[in-house]
Amino acid sequence: MKITCEHCGSLIDTAKDKKCSNCGAPYSNNSEYKSKKELEARQKEAELKTRQIGNEMAENVLDTFKNFGKIRLVIIFISLVLFAVIAFFAINTFKETKTNIENSTNYNTSSSFNNELMLFKGTQSGFFVDKLLDLVINKNAQNNIHKISVIYKDFNLTTSDEILKMKNDLKDDKNYNVLFNYDSDNYIINITIIE
Ligand SMILES: [Zn+2]
Repeated sequence: MKITCEHCGSLIDTAKDKKCSNCGAPYSNNSEYKSKKELEARQKEAELKTRQIGNEMAENVLDTFKNFGKIRLVIIFISLVLFAVIAFFAINTFKETKTNIENSTNYNTSSSFNNELMLFKGTQSGFFVDKLLDLVINKNAQNNIHKISVIYKDFNLTTSDEILKMKNDLKDDKNYNVLFNYDSDNYIINITIIE
């Protein structure tokens, strides 16, 4: 540090000189020297304290990371993302399955499919043929796999509109012959109605 000699007023550099280079007076009792030295000591102490606090804070942060674990945070994050993805697909699959079940009546066997229709086999009055065709329209609407068509007067009627129109042609007291045709799995695939 640089101080002023109390005896001759010249500048002393304490880093180089042990006493005043001009008059040779010692500066150990120089008041400027004393106060500057004290200030220096206080500054050093403050710096040390600041450094200590900084180190403690850094240690705390490190401890927090060690306890919480960067890796653990990453694992938690990945788990959450995976859970969200799985949940999304599960909900979609559930919805699809639900819709499929709602839209389609599943028949496990051909006989469970054919049974109610078989009651109308053979010679029937127009009244019962009408009931049979209502049943066919209903079955076609309820399942997507086994569609039944109606063969009448050389026409193959596949849509509900066509079948409904054909129903108007039936006479309740007239007799019709009802024949069933089956696919390779033994499900009724079309019904022939002969006057
Ligand atoms: Zn001096």
